[in-house]
Amino acid sequence: MRLSRYFLPILRETPKEAEIVSHRLMLRAGMIRQEAAGIYSWLPLGLRVLQKVATIVREEMDRAGAIELLMPTLQLADLWRETGRYEAYGPEMLRIKDRHERELLYGPTNEDMITGIFRAYVRSYRDLPKILYHIQWKFRDEQRPRFGVMRGREFLMKDAYSFDIDEASARLSYNKMFVAYLRIFARMGLKAIPMRAETGPIGGDLSHEFLILAETGESAVFCHADVLDLPIPPENTDYESDLLPVIQQWTALYAATGDVHDQDRFERETPEAKRIHTRGIEVGQVFYFGDKYSKPMQALITGPDGAERPFQGGSYGVGVSRLVGALIEASHDENGIIWPEPVAPFKVGIANLKAGDDVTDAACELIYDALEKAGVDVLYDDTDERPGAKFAKLDLIGLPYQLIVGPKGLASGTVELKTRATGARENLDAATAIARLAGS
Ligand code: ATP
Ligand code: MG
Repeated sequence: MRLSRYFLPILRETPKEAEIVSHRLMLRAGMIRQEAAGIYSWLPLGLRVLQKVATIVREEMDRAGAIELLMPTLQLADLWRETGRYEAYGPEMLRIKDRHERELLYGPTNEDMITGIFRAYVRSYRDLPKILYHIQWKFRDEQRPRFGVMRGREFLMKDAYSFDIDEASARLSYNKMFVAYLRIFARMGLKAIPMRAETGPIGGDLSHEFLILAETGESAVFCHADVLDLPIPPENTDYESDLLPVIQQWTALYAATGDVHDQDRFERETPEAKRIHTRGIEVGQVFYFGDKYSKPMQALITGPDGAERPFQGGSYGVGVSRLVGALIEASHDENGIIWPEPVAPFKVGIANLKAGDDVTDAACELIYDALEKAGVDVLYDDTDERPGAKFAKLDLIGLPYQLIVGPKGLASGTVELKTRATGARENLDAATAIARLAGS
């Protein structure tokens, strides 16, 4: 992408309404624009990150054996009346009427709808287990939307739902999602810690929240320091094998949010030097809720014994749009964002230090073409802005690498490769720089 043709509305001023660094940086870097409280347009740069996050989530869901579908954002109120949640949900639910005065709502979650889908098609234990998921916009009329996309009203969520014949089998599905979550967040360069959690309006008796540690997080967090260094299950994890040892390893050390924290137990189980008490951002949550939805909705499955019973369910959410903010909270410096490579909007930015100069232009074009051909996501700053402004912009938008191309370096046959995270700079000939960037 050539910057001269791109749409990257960088803000010079730091927006006053933004209380936390990720919100400030997302606005300044031209990633999002607020349309109403808690409702955002995703501008091109932000959308690229959102899509990369969603892709990682999708790949890991698929790997774990979950099947993607897509449910609508609008749902009939009657569906929610079957489970009693239409009345129970409260003012966070956005209720809408269509021209026929039919009551609809903008879905805050999809347990009821997916149960309706399942009930319509599946009757036999032979068709189980199943895990279905979608990545879809949700609406929750939050009392205090704030922190940009971290607590929006409209936000993108991946939500998966598991269907099993009995509790033992449902726990296996729960474990699959638990392991997939460990991989999802690790692939984005995040250390997300599973913590025992309350089940809230989703209901049920088993739940873990996944949190990343950040002082700007909304939850109080207490955990054993060693939980930060536990091994992530590998890509070739067999999801049909026994995953319990992984779950046990990850739940053995103390880790809890403020809501369920037990100070005595924390002190008993965690040596003083290992006690972490900080704040965290919830990026995902997994629930096992049994027949909470299948029973009232009469979603019945015939078991091997010929008897019908409601299926045993679980649901599994990831805050896809919240993650974009959370990633910035976890990785930035005073000059801007520092994207981990797997979610970076572009891998490298080329700064042409003398646009209009034939030699510099030609070198930049050559590098740009070669990188594009190699499949590297590259943003080429071909504008005639002064070098200082170009450097500041590249630092702000946080691409992992910067390739700085100017007449001085070219005279001695080199370009400069800067690594955003470390600030390390190397002078390389263009071919070596291209090979380096195309390689990893
Ligand atoms: P919170 O406690 O932060 O309000 P929640 O527990 O109500 O979240 P879940 O129902 O568990 O949320 O939804 C799954 C995921 O969706 C959460 O883990 C979070 O990452 C994300 N999420 C929830 N609410 C919002 C929101 N208002 N804005 C952005 N993301 C959200
Ligand atoms: Mg939650």
